[in-house]
Amino acid sequence: MSEDFITLTIGKQKSIALIAHDSKKHQLIEWCEANKDVLSKHFLCGTGTTARMITNETGLPVKGYNSGPLGGDQQIGAKVVEGKVDFIIFFSDPLAAQPHDPDVKALLRIAQVYDIPIANNKATADFMITSSYMDKEYEHKVMNFSKNVQDRANTL
Ligand code: PGA
Repeated sequence: MSEDFITLTIGKQKSIALIAHDSKKHQLIEWCEANKDVLSKHFLCGTGTTARMITNETGLPVKGYNSGPLGGDQQIGAKVVEGKVDFIIFFSDPLAAQPHDPDVKALLRIAQVYDIPIANNKATADFMITSSYMDKEYEHKVMNFSKNVQDRANTL
């Protein structure tokens, strides 16, 4: 009988997604510049415009997905599901309506489902980036999705 939860490991070298809404892009670029030494030890990706601007202004290599409003947040969410993104810095704008609000909510939700660290403001990002876990593996328990599908298929 398989377990309801499985143990997953966020590796020592993390796969970090960087996203910022327009009014927060410069704050995120400054944050990346200030934390360049740590960030350069990990794999970086981000929504299209954010990724391009960070690379242009800091020199950090950031793999760019589509722009957020064109599906970039959903692409990053899919990578979380696949276990290929395990850490998210997302400076969202709490004061402006976003055309892709459902996608933003979906990303927050999927990060919660998969127990992924996610910062939505600078203070949280500062605490996360200085965590001792940045330099080592972190084990966490996540729902056993195979068992979940099996149980549902057997009972519904
Ligand atoms: P962008 O997308 O980096 O392409 O601007 C970010 C967002 O608004 O979600």
